[in-house]
Amino acid sequence: MRTTVGIIGAGPAGLLLARLLHNAGIDSVVLESRDRAYVEQRQRAGILEQGTVDVLRAVGAGERMDREGLRHDGIELRYAKKRHRVDFPALTGGRSVTVYAQTEVCKDLIALQLKEGGPLLFEAEALAVEGADTDSPSVRFRHEGREELLECDYVVGCDGSWGVARKAIPAELTRVFERTYPFGWLGILADVPPSHDELVYARHDRGFALLSMRPPVSRHHPSKEVASLPIESFVSRLYLQVPEGTDAEEWGDQEIWDELERRFETEDGWRLERGPITQKSVTPMRSYVQEPMRYGRLFLAGDAAHIVPPTGAKGLNLAVGDVVTFARALTYQQETGSAELLDAYSETCLRRVWQAERFSYDMTTLLHRAPDATPFEDRLQLARLERIASSRAAETDLAEGYTGFPLD
Ligand SMILES: Cc1cc2nc3c(=O)[nH]c(=O)nc-3n(C[C@H](O)[C@H](O)[C@H](O)COP(=O)(O)OP(=O)(O)OC[C@H]3O[C@@H](n4cnc5c(N)ncnc54)[C@H](O)[C@@H]3O)c2cc1C
Repeated sequence: MRTTVGIIGAGPAGLLLARLLHNAGIDSVVLESRDRAYVEQRQRAGILEQGTVDVLRAVGAGERMDREGLRHDGIELRYAKKRHRVDFPALTGGRSVTVYAQTEVCKDLIALQLKEGGPLLFEAEALAVEGADTDSPSVRFRHEGREELLECDYVVGCDGSWGVARKAIPAELTRVFERTYPFGWLGILADVPPSHDELVYARHDRGFALLSMRPPVSRHHPSKEVASLPIESFVSRLYLQVPEGTDAEEWGDQEIWDELERRFETEDGWRLERGPITQKSVTPMRSYVQEPMRYGRLFLAGDAAHIVPPTGAKGLNLAVGDVVTFARALTYQQETGSAELLDAYSETCLRRVWQAERFSYDMTTLLHRAPDATPFEDRLQLARLERIASSRAAETDLAEGYTGFPLD
């Protein structure tokens, strides 16, 4: 099999890249090790930056997102039983974010790819990238019990943090920057309307908590614009900071609700509504960057090159930034013959990646309580939160980071 761009992985990065290339008239083949149902149901990110929303619309994948996604103009910070709302449009010249789950982004892009795009092979596991430093790299993969070779002009590794693409870069040419945090997130989906209409980020002496939400599944409301549905029709997505290595099953449902209630408590009597928990899982927290993001004709994009803790809601959005940068660079190369933008790919992406790493780290250390935190550090956290609540400059910095760094 032969193509211009071999894409490994059908997460948001790989699927969006295939769509961007299709629209630019460049052919590609996507190899995905899992089956379609698995990819469409894997619960992960849920917050789309303004730039991500704009890109999805521009590639023709925004129709359902515009109907079902929920525009959010702010978040609430909660600490010492106090509440402070950060107003994004007022602080950023009109920017906002959209609540629309990664599962739905993937479903929309898969449907488009299967209808209009090049081959997207499920249960096709890439085994290795070969000849990355030559003019004709290839991907060896297993599909329907056979080993096959995908010959390409370029390979893009969009295969997430456990993929094979980055292993093709010689270790002596690579630098890894990494930090693991001594805690994770216990996440639940609950069949109960969210107790607040925007996300609530709570800092508490017992640890961090996040109140978020998911739009209702469209089949429940086939004839309605979901964005116009009342908040009561949404389901709750909630998270608790838990020690690293926690097993989700260690936590009973009652215990989860009691703990959430404690961490979200306010002095004005705000109430957390409880309901049946339909899903429970634990996410570890890690910051990771591999440099450079390119070796010869192999390019890394998304989680294959970098990971952020989810506190800043940046993982999916960074993946989008990388593939937009690659698609622009390749289009430029095809139109002008100049490899200038492809040569600058790693540097261009890393500028944005490190801003997102910095923001995610700041949000994580602002809101989580380290197991060995001292009273001095507790006071510092509260002082940082007070500063955001009382200084427009500090608050603007948070709002700009949250709504997203420019793609250019
Ligand atoms: C449990 C979890 C929860 C998260 N929660 C949030 C959140 O709340 N907010 C947020 O912003 N971000 C979150 N993230 C991060 C966000 O989901 C990722 O940044 C995003 O999925 C990155 O997209 P990607 O396409 O780069 O990688 P992925 O989505 O990981 O996609 C990679 C794809 O490659 C496939 N693949 C892997 N190896 C191979 C192979 N050898 N051959 C073929 N295919 C292969 C995988 O099956 C997968 O489909 C979370 C991540 C995880 C793991």
